[in-house]
Amino acid sequence: MAENCTHNCSTCSSNCKSKDLRVQLRESSCVKKVIGIVSGKGGVGKSLVTALMAAKLSQRGFKTAVLDADITGPSIPTSFGVAEEKAMGDASGAIYPVTTKSGIQLMSMNFLLEHETDPVLWRGPVIAGAVKQFWTDVVWKDVDFMFVDMPPGTGDVPLTVFQSLPVDGIIIVSSPQQLVRVIVEKAVKMAEMMKIPVLGLVENMSYVQCPDCDRQIKIFGESNVEKIALDYGIPLLAKIPISEEMSRAIDEGEVESLKSDFLDAAADRVTQI
Ligand code: ADP
Ligand code: MG
Repeated sequence: MAENCTHNCSTCSSNCKSKDLRVQLRESSCVKKVIGIVSGKGGVGKSLVTALMAAKLSQRGFKTAVLDADITGPSIPTSFGVAEEKAMGDASGAIYPVTTKSGIQLMSMNFLLEHETDPVLWRGPVIAGAVKQFWTDVVWKDVDFMFVDMPPGTGDVPLTVFQSLPVDGIIIVSSPQQLVRVIVEKAVKMAEMMKIPVLGLVENMSYVQCPDCDRQIKIFGESNVEKIALDYGIPLLAKIPISEEMSRAIDEGEVESLKSDFLDAAADRVTQI
């Protein structure tokens, strides 16, 4: 970085390796904290954790938002029961987010497609550009905490989010299967390279609670998530069971009415940023 860096790369002539690639919000937008929900794998519960976190902090009185960065597989609108909604725009180029029953602001590719089932057949850079626009063109009103639901892996979109948005921290989601260590290590290393703090690890699908007794049935076997969290020096924020109630709430668009306490510690961690 140049000695007298002003962080304004557009007027800087120096050939600097660490150019600030951040993009700006609209003047009328305000987002205080941005938290990325990541995992190297699909289907582990990133979208579930994103929706639950936004709902939990909203229940605690914060203004929350979800930027659904999973452009080709958006699932956030369904979990909030707004899959049929469309995002409105105006002549100035502003796009207005869809607001849920409890006032959570959402932006998702779903709101821009004519039909929910239309496939998005775009190449990586175009998809990454759309995610950037969700930040720059959407009118985000007084958001305390924005959760970014990431697609799996370490491709174009996570890289764009980490480079372009002021991400304050990430939460890594895993399930108790093999490869967890690899998934966690990759996410931790990526966060380190992008200089973004890892707030903690959430293990989803940890167990099934027996309906008749206290037993926790470990469908995927015993996990070593505590050891992994310890090895990488990151807090284990939650162990979420596989739950029919949760699955139903997501499918029926009722995630806001769930009253579970599984993510209390994760919510505490986020509010401490
Ligand atoms: P990802 O975003 O990582 O691809 P999702 O959050 O979409 O994963 O979860 C994949 C599927 O599994 C969804 O249908 C979701 O509702 C379901 N699911 C995730 N976690 C749970 C859970 N703890 N209990 C029940 N169903 C779950
Ligand atoms: Mg998802």
